[in-house]
Amino acid sequence: MNLVIFFGPPGCGKGTQSDVLKAELNYKKTSTGDALRVIAKQDNDLGNEVASLMRQGKLIPDATVSEVITSSLEDVSGFAGVILDGYPRTLSQVEFLDDYLTNKKSGLFSKIKVIEIDVPDSLLINRICGRYVCASCGVTYHESLRPTREAGKCDNCGGVEFSKRSDDNKETVKERLQSYHDNFANIKAFYESRNLVFAVDGAKSIEEVREDIIKIALG
Ligand code: AMP
Repeated sequence: MNLVIFFGPPGCGKGTQSDVLKAELNYKKTSTGDALRVIAKQDNDLGNEVASLMRQGKLIPDATVSEVITSSLEDVSGFAGVILDGYPRTLSQVEFLDDYLTNKKSGLFSKIKVIEIDVPDSLLINRICGRYVCASCGVTYHESLRPTREAGKCDNCGGVEFSKRSDDNKETVKERLQSYHDNFANIKAFYESRNLVFAVDGAKSIEEVREDIIKIALG
């Protein structure tokens, strides 16, 4: 089984391309952001803490995020691979994942590929601020780059209600980009030392990026 780790700044297309691998190649998608948004809706201390940090564009403490990842990796039977979207995001998460895969999931993944989706910051603010999400199935659209085929109706499930993420605004995006750049070099160096990094030009169209990513995943 393959493990594909999507790595790139917020707005680079990780979520969209994870949905492609999930649908076309029968991969299980684990998005820490999606899982944390569910936790943030809980009316308890953890939910309130996660919601507050996410609104500020700050990272959630490792204990919570590790729990999300390990529970998702517990049940992967029947899938051709697993995608990690939004994890790991810091060197300590990289080390946790490495240790977990080595000691608890040894032999589960025959190939690990880290797909770096590279997009200049100047394109990201527009991409993020135009995003909206189907309230029923969670598929992401964009006002100009990827609108629904029929106005107001989700291509995937026919849902007619959409929402915007509360952290998709200019101020929070700057904080999220800063966090990405602070951690980028260390994470990349770790995976490069193992020859696991495949770079993709994320400034290309969704379809072109999709083709590049499928080739890497199947290669
Ligand atoms: P995303 O949907 O990947 O853009 O993530 C949205 C937000 O969820 C981030 O700005 C963080 O607040 C939180 N988050 C997602 N993944 C992680 C992670 N691996 N570590 C810490 N916080 C995370």
